[in-house]
Parts: sequence; structure tokens; C-alpha cells
Amino acid sequence: MTQDLQTTTYTLIDGKKVSSDIKDEIAAKVAERKQLGKKIPHLAIILVGDDGASQTYVDNKVKACKSVGFHYTMMRFADTISEERLMKHIDHVNNDDDVDGFIVQLPLPAHISVENITEKIRSDKDVDGFTNHNFGSIISKSPLLLPATPYGVMELLRRYGIETEGKHAVVVGASRIAGAPLSMMLTEQGRATVTICHKFTKDLPAYTRSADILLTAVGKPGLITADMVKEGAIVIDIGTTRVEGPEYPKGWAIKGDVDFKNVAPKASYITPVPGGVGPMTIVSLLLNTLRATELRHP
Ligand code: NAP
Repeated sequence: MTQDLQTTTYTLIDGKKVSSDIKDEIAAKVAERKQLGKKIPHLAIILVGDDGASQTYVDNKVKACKSVGFHYTMMRFADTISEERLMKHIDHVNNDDDVDGFIVQLPLPAHISVENITEKIRSDKDVDGFTNHNFGSIISKSPLLLPATPYGVMELLRRYGIETEGKHAVVVGASRIAGAPLSMMLTEQGRATVTICHKFTKDLPAYTRSADILLTAVGKPGLITADMVKEGAIVIDIGTTRVEGPEYPKGWAIKGDVDFKNVAPKASYITPVPGGVGPMTIVSLLLNTLRATELRHP
């Protein structure tokens, strides 16, 4: 969709549409596997506690599995479960031949170490791409299962024909699940020149203004204002923050890091929030689950 605003036009990167196209492609591959008598991908989801947002994310993942014909298993545990017991369940899923991929929904209760739990997951079933092995495999010649959110961003860029080679990509936010692996993927697969900014970066606007491609994953609505963006830049907003306020019809709204209204007229391409990167993360999970299945059961 191209929108005319003042003197500039920008292309809205429609993650909903791209993710729906990819789901159709996955569903066709699943149907073909079924016809050939091959194993149907099976995703297991472990949910600890009853956090409302986590429940919504998990419901969406289950819905996505159903929409492409995957098998799925939901495993719920009370937030009082010990780390040791949760590890035992993970061992069980690791050794369950019928499960091709699984995820442990984050966040976990404070008494459980995310790092210990993540590292317990077999890397060839780690369809979120969170383990050290999969993180490191980004820079190998044959990555195993790519971290889901950056994978989704790279796929969006690819499907919109956005060239990254030789471009200056500035990534704002350096977390383990978003900014850090994204910067590695932009370097390795995208052949971009990458700058990573974080909380301690001095003079953030000086960096963002030099970006041909600006990607932000911080979780601070309005962090990226129009004066921080170069004319014609490509802007990818991963930030997803629930903001409350009487001005929103539902009493709340989901906001990205970018001041969309004022930044969009300066951009050449831009992702909305919601409807940009978010739907791509779930689709990456499906792509990884399909890949994990194909690797184990060609
Ligand atoms: P996180 O672990 O809190 O990481 C935030 C990163 O931003 C950190 O690297 C932090 O720096 C940096 N940061 C904080 N304040 C900053 C500032 N003022 N300027 C520059 N950098 C700053 O969060 P996350 O898990 O990566 O998530 C980030 C956002 O992306 C959240 O809104 C989250 O909901 C969203 N997200 C969306 C998806 C999706 O599928 N759409 C997936 C993942 C994340 P330090 O490292 O120095 O603390």
C-alpha cells in the first residue's frame, strides 16, 4: 500500500499480508507431506503461570498451528513449579520423538532462570532460536534454527525487495532475542554495515540520522522522532508496548518505538505497529518448526 502524505510517499510494510502469504505456503507444504505419508510438524508449547499477555501470545501460536495444519501440544504449569521440575519436563519433550519443535513462553517466574531453561532445550527443537547454539549458528555457513523475530524482519525485507547489501543499518536495542541477533543477521545474511545502539549510546540521533535502514527494538513508545530519521530511510519498528489511556477506544493501544505519524512522511518504507513485525514472529516460529521437521524427517 502506498500512501501520499504532503510531498512524500512511503510504502507501508504489511506484515499481516506477508505472514498470511507465508502461512498459505506452509499449509501447502504440510498438505503435500500428508499426501506423501510424511510426518506432520508437531509444535509443543510450555506455559508457566497465568500471565494474561503470555496467554494471548500462546493462543495466537496455537491458532497459527491450526491454520497451517500442524499438530500441537499445550503444556501448562503453575507458577509455583520448581526449576528442577520444569527441567524434567523439558527433558521429556527433548526426548519425545513425536515433537519436532517446542518453545517455553517467556517471561518465566522470577525463581526460574531463563538462561538455564533455554539452554536445556535441544537446539534442533529450539524453534524460537534462543539457545546459544542457534544464536551462534547465525554466523555459521549453515544456520540451524534462526531467532524468530530477526528471522521475521529479514523475511519482510526480502519479500519487499529491500536491498540491504552495503547499506548502513542502525539497530536500536541490543537484547538477546531481538536487537543483537538482528544485527548479526543484517551483517551475515544482509551484508549491511551495521551500527548497534543501546541504553548507553551517547547521542542516539547522530546514529539514527545516518541510517539507510533504521530498526528499533527497545519498548519505548515515541523514542524515534521525525528529526532522528533521514529522508527516504527504511524504518522497521519491532517495539510493542501496551499503552493505557482514555483516548483509545479500548482504553489501551499497542504502540511501537517510532512516532509513526510524523516519521512515516520521511520514510520510503515503514512498518506499522501493530501489523508489521509482530505477525512475522509467529510465522517464523512456524517456518522453524517446519524446518526442524524436515531435518528430522526429510
Ligand atoms: P529488552 O530486553 O528490554 O531490550 C531492550 C533493548 O533496548 C536493550 O538492549 C536496551 O539497552 C535498549 N534500550 C533501552 N533504552 C534505550 C534507549 N533509550 N535508547 C536506546 N536503547 C535503549 O526488550 P526486548 O525483549 O528486546 O524487546 C524490545 C521491544 O521489542 C519490546 O517492546 C518488545 O515487546 C518488542 N518485541 C516485539 C517482538 C515482536 O514479535 N513484535 C518480539 C520481541 C520483542 P541495554 O541492553 O543497555 O539495557
